Amino acid sequence: MKLTRLTAAAAGLLLAIGLTACGSSEKTVDAQASSATSAGAAGALVGVTMPTKSSERWISDGDNVKKALEGLGYTVDLQYAENDIPTQVNQIENQITKGAKLLVIASIDGTAITTQLQEAKDKGIPVIAYDRLIRNSPNVDYYATFDNFKVGVQQATSLLTGLGLKKADGTDGDAKGPFNVELFAGSPDDNNATFFFNGAMSVLQPYIDSKKLVVTSGQTDFKTVAILRWDPATAQKRMEDLLTKSYGGGKTVQGVLSPYDGLSIGILSALKSNGYGTAGQPYPVVTGQDAELASVKSIIAEEQYSTIFKDTRELAKVTVTMADAILKGGTPEVNNTKDYDNGNKVVPSYLLDPVIVDKTNYEKVLVGAGYYTQAQLAG
Ligand code: BGC
Repeated sequence: MKLTRLTAAAAGLLLAIGLTACGSSEKTVDAQASSATSAGAAGALVGVTMPTKSSERWISDGDNVKKALEGLGYTVDLQYAENDIPTQVNQIENQITKGAKLLVIASIDGTAITTQLQEAKDKGIPVIAYDRLIRNSPNVDYYATFDNFKVGVQQATSLLTGLGLKKADGTDGDAKGPFNVELFAGSPDDNNATFFFNGAMSVLQPYIDSKKLVVTSGQTDFKTVAILRWDPATAQKRMEDLLTKSYGGGKTVQGVLSPYDGLSIGILSALKSNGYGTAGQPYPVVTGQDAELASVKSIIAEEQYSTIFKDTRELAKVTVTMADAILKGGTPEVNNTKDYDNGNKVVPSYLLDPVIVDKTNYEKVLVGAGYYTQAQLAG
């Protein structure tokens, strides 16, 4: 089996080299596309670009996508850009130059790569947007992600549950409020950030209107609460400023909507240095996203309240299945063709389901799914 794949891969490579030597890159694309169709796209190069290694999830995403593609006999160029837009632009350009037959892109700035996508289109290279929608370009073929609006709804729901305004079964809780809360959103250049925030506000706004929740700082619009590049240090600084300007003198913050575990860590450390996290002044209910190891441990230690688990192994699987179908000349399965308008067209999407994780269910969900072992969580 392995040998056959290798032989096919070698044959594909030789074919590509031979045709490139003829001097027609277009022919190379066509010949490879047809050999892909007939010989299972064996050995074709797939370019995968991820935003950063500063967060665990993207490391797993990259590893999982690479491994699964290689398992199907593809060659993979996997790149990380440390959240630097020009670096990611160069990486995509290089992959096109190297003869990638398909691109999987988790963009840093969803609007910054339109030129590269046009180049890809001109060369007949299909593009899958990974996790984050690529905006303002007709040259995005498919989108694989989680239900991002639902992520926001879940973050807000869990904030309400933590405060006691709602019960886990969704019915009204016993607490009445009012509770002091602050809101954070993700990076404004990441399309997901708006979806998360809008999802959260769809749940929180009625509570803010009825004054069960009070945003003491008054900062409720996306632009004001967004944290560029999802930077934990920026979130920490903003939380410190909020505590200095809007709290103190007996007034405490009781809930923080945080859209990502990395930001939650920054927020919690600002809270800690302002005297929170003690019996007399417990941490507020702080949400998160990604079920990163440090944050799951923080949930177990009753610091962070919750996170949203998005099984990146499933996302990789869906993406690789899509890529394989496209490379073999087929049509990939999608389950949403209405929600993800990128400003130019509605991109056919496959959405996966996110899950709320808190202290009550982390074992069942995360250990149960084999995402972490007990030992990892205990260590
Ligand atoms: C992803 C989140 C992640 C965030 C920061 C978003 O685009 O969907 O899972 O927390 O980026 O990396």
